[in-house]
This record gives sequence, structure tokens and C-alpha cells, in this order.
Amino acid sequence: MVKAVSLLSGGLDSILAIRIIQEQKVNIVAVHFSIPFTSKKDKNYNLSKKLSDELGIHLELIKIKKEYLSIVKNPKYGYGSNFNPCIDCRIFMVKKAKEYMNKIKASFLITGEVLGQRPMSQRKDVLTIIEKESKMQGLILRPLSAKLLKPTIPEEKGWVDRSKLLNISGRSRKKQIELANNFNIKDYLTPAGGCLLTDPAFSRKMADLLKFKGDFGLHEIELLKVGRHFRLNSESKLIIGRNESENSKLLKLAKIEDLIFSPIRVKCPVAIGRGDFNKENKTLACKIIAKYCKDSSFQTIKLHCGKNTVDNTITVLPIESKEIKKYRI
Ligand code: SF4
Repeated sequence: MVKAVSLLSGGLDSILAIRIIQEQKVNIVAVHFSIPFTSKKDKNYNLSKKLSDELGIHLELIKIKKEYLSIVKNPKYGYGSNFNPCIDCRIFMVKKAKEYMNKIKASFLITGEVLGQRPMSQRKDVLTIIEKESKMQGLILRPLSAKLLKPTIPEEKGWVDRSKLLNISGRSRKKQIELANNFNIKDYLTPAGGCLLTDPAFSRKMADLLKFKGDFGLHEIELLKVGRHFRLNSESKLIIGRNESENSKLLKLAKIEDLIFSPIRVKCPVAIGRGDFNKENKTLACKIIAKYCKDSSFQTIKLHCGKNTVDNTITVLPIESKEIKKYRI
């Protein structure tokens, strides 16, 4: 039986693509990518695992780490409406899937892409670019839109019956929902799948990071996912937790050289300062933190440098509401 690899994000389209090809005599192995910019990595994987178990197929988890950052920093095909380098990202994933295909001796790749569904990465010309850049011409089968696309090698060779493939296009999800009902598929992720690069607030923080710390690594990305971020000057930024869970995450992510701000006799969120701090930006940081303290009428903020050592004490008034906006990223 011919073997194929299928991308499985946990989204409905990827599940349907597998279900459609499962009706034919193809041995499918699914791959799920975990990228640093997914907000619900574990949830997405766990759902994909549950689905692949229900479908009776093996799921291979491919963890993408540092190597993905160069795509985000400098995408050949640019960004979408936020910081999402979707075309480069798809090329990257197809290349990775191809490596896995070669490893397990699979003959082609299945994806849940739908022609015209996403303005950036699912246009006809872009699907061609993805195939060309990954050197996978004719080897990517998109069952949901196949009838609107040139026949692929699996169709030409008769491994897959083209007449049983579909002709879905556009942004409407109506046909996919109907198919989900037919196949009794109930559990799946929303289309965006939690990619933070499509989120405007996260994208602002990414743009700031790229501008002020272009050599960023995975640690900085993890920090961007937590708290309110403030750019104090080109050398320093402040991050303030929004709740108990973020407070403890921030403390875990703090580096030994970061400043940890701890107010005296008043309940305040955890705040860390990263970068070069002089008296001026320490005071500014304290004024911003004071704004988020429970009683923000007047505060004395005690400043701890590093994780344990007491450095100095600064007394501030909270920053004015209209002023704070200048620093929020
Ligand atoms: S939305 Fe995010 S994960 Fe999906 S293709 Fe775009 S950059 Fe990649």
C-alpha cells in the first residue's frame, strides 16, 4: 500500500484531508509541528494525538525551535497583516515534512490547504511557490481543493482517485462543517490555531524585539508571551505580570542580571527590568509599576537588583494614565 505523510495541526481542514484520503487505499502517517509561537502548544498537540488515535494513524511530533527564528526575523516572502511569515512558514514545514517522508519512505504529502481560504498562503500562485521552494512539485496533494488544481503525481499514478477529491475554495467554512458532520468530527481547533504571529498585540512586541534586540533567541520569545511590556528607552524594558500565574512565570523567566522590582507594604504584581538601568529609568519603571499596585495613590517602591540582593529604595508617585501609553508596547 502506498504511504503518505499528512500535516495534522488539529484544525478541521487537516483532519478532513486525512479522512478523505483514508477512504482510499493509502497508509497515512501524520505529523504535527510544535513551533515556538503557538500559544497552546500542549493543547494543540494533545488534540492532534487524540484525533490521530481516533483515526487509527501514527502521529509524529516535530518540535521546531531555534531554526524557525531566522524565518521570523527575515522572511523571503514577507509578513502577512501582522508578524506572520506564512509563506516562508509553510515552505519550512513542507521541507521538514519532506525530511520525514524520506525517512519513512512515504511517496507524497497531504495537506488541508484550501485554495483562497487564507489571503497570504493559500493563493494558487503561492501554493506553486511552496512546492517549488521545497522541491515538492506534484507531490503535495490537497484533497479539499484538488479538483481546482493541476493533477498531482499521486493522482496521475492512480494511487489516489481524483474523482473522489473535492473542489472547495474560498473563506466560507460551510462545506467543511457539512463534511465534519458527515464524518462525525466534533473536536477540532479554530482556524487560527493559536499562532501568536497573527495576533496584533504579540506582533507589536515582536516588532519591538526585532528593533531593539535583533539577535533574540527562544528565551526572549517565551518572555514576550507573559505580562504587560513597556519600552523605557532603547536599552531597557519593563515587564509586569497580569495575574498570579504570570507573576510566577516571570520569576521563572527572569535572568540573574534582570532587575526584580519588589514594592514595600503594598500588593503589586511581579515586575522585571531587562537591559541597562540607570537612576532615571529605574525611577520611571517604579512609577509605571506603582500604577498597577492595589493602592496606587502613593507608593514606596523598594528595588531589588538581581534575584536577592537589596540595591536601593526609590519613592515615586504612580505615572499619569495618559503618560503610560507612551511606554506600553
Ligand atoms: S499562521 Fe502562523 S503557523 Fe500558520 S502559516 Fe502563518 S506563521 Fe505559520
